[in-house]
Amino acid sequence: MIYLIEVQPFSEFEVRGTAKMAKSVEVKDGICYMCSNSCPTKINVRDGKAVKIDIADPKVAYCPRWKAQLDFIYHPDRLQYPLKRTGAQGKGSWQRTTWEEALDITAHNLQLVKNKYGAESVVFWIAYTKEPRPFFHRLSHAFGSPNYCTESSNCFSGTWIAANLTYGPEYSGMAGSSASVEPETKCKLVWGSSVISSPQAWQENIEAIKRGVKYIVVDPQRTTIASRANIHLQLRPGTDGALALGMMNVIINQDLHDKEFIKKWTIGFEGLASLAQEYPPERVAEITWVPAAKIREAAILYATTKPAKLHLSANSTTHHSNGVQNHRAIILLPALTGNFDINGGNRFANHTTVEVNDITLHERISKMPPGVGSQRFPIWTERYREMQSNAIVDQIESCEPYPIKALFSAGLDIQFFANSRRMTASLEKLDFVAVTEYFHTPGTQLADIVLPIASWLERPILLTNYRGCARLISPAISPVGESRTEWDIYSELAKRLGFGELFWNGDFTRCADYVLEPLKITCQDLKQHPEGIKLPAVKRPEKYYRKLGFCTPSGKVEIACAALAEHGLDALPVYREPPESPLSRPDLAKSFPLVITSGARVMAYTHSQHRNIPRLRKLMPEPLVDIHHADAKARGINAGDTVTISTPRGSIRMKAHVTDTILQGVVSLPHHWPGEANVNSLVDDKNLDPISGFIPCKSQLCQVSKCNL
Ligand code: SF4
Repeated sequence: MIYLIEVQPFSEFEVRGTAKMAKSVEVKDGICYMCSNSCPTKINVRDGKAVKIDIADPKVAYCPRWKAQLDFIYHPDRLQYPLKRTGAQGKGSWQRTTWEEALDITAHNLQLVKNKYGAESVVFWIAYTKEPRPFFHRLSHAFGSPNYCTESSNCFSGTWIAANLTYGPEYSGMAGSSASVEPETKCKLVWGSSVISSPQAWQENIEAIKRGVKYIVVDPQRTTIASRANIHLQLRPGTDGALALGMMNVIINQDLHDKEFIKKWTIGFEGLASLAQEYPPERVAEITWVPAAKIREAAILYATTKPAKLHLSANSTTHHSNGVQNHRAIILLPALTGNFDINGGNRFANHTTVEVNDITLHERISKMPPGVGSQRFPIWTERYREMQSNAIVDQIESCEPYPIKALFSAGLDIQFFANSRRMTASLEKLDFVAVTEYFHTPGTQLADIVLPIASWLERPILLTNYRGCARLISPAISPVGESRTEWDIYSELAKRLGFGELFWNGDFTRCADYVLEPLKITCQDLKQHPEGIKLPAVKRPEKYYRKLGFCTPSGKVEIACAALAEHGLDALPVYREPPESPLSRPDLAKSFPLVITSGARVMAYTHSQHRNIPRLRKLMPEPLVDIHHADAKARGINAGDTVTISTPRGSIRMKAHVTDTILQGVVSLPHHWPGEANVNSLVDDKNLDPISGFIPCKSQLCQVSKCNL
């Protein structure tokens, strides 16, 4: 049985040329928004229909998802008309309705909840795609609700917060800028990233390995990049913070740290040095399951091969109950070793500064009641400017500090939430749910109204900074069926809710002109320059912090973080065991002896999307749990057997992929499969990270057993 878990690059795919085209075919620019990479495309349109899509960046040629976009756009199951539910929730009985009626019903019910309970009782949740989010954010605040949220409640923002607290806002995007490899880089410490899901980064990293750059990879799975690394640290999920402290122990005790930088530019080093003394490699080996000799070897290689670059995942280190502190420990390694903000190390590339007008109306939030989760996770909600959606279930159930009664959702991804069954049961209690979507999903099954949405080929896209340019991408084709753009839907709702003027009465051009105003560019200018208008680039020298210091309260790198201490949290990046682990709960581990990690990226799908597209489904037809040979043998499990994976929250089923690539004692499950294979239905929704509010979906105990069907 062969299953394609990681799609191998440079194989069957090639860039399709755009040179030969029939005369009747018009080639239009587009941006693929099927994941966060936002790749440029060329769309061939004949008689108003998209007939071919080419990728305009050879580095992402092997991504299979853009090749499937026509299948997505013209999928027979695509929602084309507004629907209203006629039967009970979850029964799938719908009636086609008009846009007038669908929008009237939606506006009426949102207003009803607002009148009865207050605007804050309506939650505005948006998932993919990301580009129209500012409009949605504006809708929430114009309506009067502080409860705007996105999938950032559980995505990359944990790394953002960790960098924000430690290095200040200027360096918050450290994780995002870490994947590339500069010509100067001599060593790469890849922490929790398979690299493969980012096409450009994959190319750069493979080329770097070929030219002899040293690689250290931290990952419980022997991924392709780990198999090519000089050192692979195969750790128990959730113990990253202990591993980072163990590496610091070696670096400090072997006098490999950058004393000058530490003295001048950091605060709290003494505390960290004594904390690191509690983590000698032998103790760290017991915690992380990584041999002590390898920890020493990796620490020395990283600290002595300069410049070295730390390559971070957007979320693998933060989806834990101690995720932000674990991540803080990791991102301090460049500062301790003199690799911060130097060419070849961790620095921001020369970048373009873009100041545009913010349309989110966020300033209104100070006059609104506190957003969901803001009392429990004040650091995240204040800095990230969203409510924390992982707290929504508790509030729906308790009605404290106020009730939540309605949800307007752009793509309601139920599989995203921990303990998803509880989440579903909570949403069923709401008075009203409206969802915009491309296809029916488990989320639409909870909705009273479903609104079909236009795709990235079918809507105008305003880009205020795309690869150094401001651009306006015109729709390549008309929306399929009666689907409508987000802008159209939100501005129509705004009119019905009595604040149409806040959406420029539906005039997209006026909205775009307002956004662009500080750039002294108009929408008309962008229409005349479809290739984009170059923005002024600002060259930043190395060690930019020497100019103005760090934008933290102390002006320094906050190893000891004052903001955390003010909220009664650990100022230092203290390691804490996951609440459910073989060490913290040996009693529970008797029944649930294996450790789950989940969410490893695959090329076929973006989170919950694309499983209904046959050519992508072929790449990964069904969800598989990776289990080590020895763990499988001990349970009488053979490759391809259906197995039950259980945690204290319940159980799901998948087929077994018996392998030696996963660390013994750990099982790896794919994320965002629906129904019986939804891994998040197993996840603890109580022990959330106290700083970010993130769920511990990558480190909890489970049992796997053969399913006797
Ligand atoms: S799905 Fe592929 S082509 Fe589309 S944005 Fe993502 S990486 Fe780029």
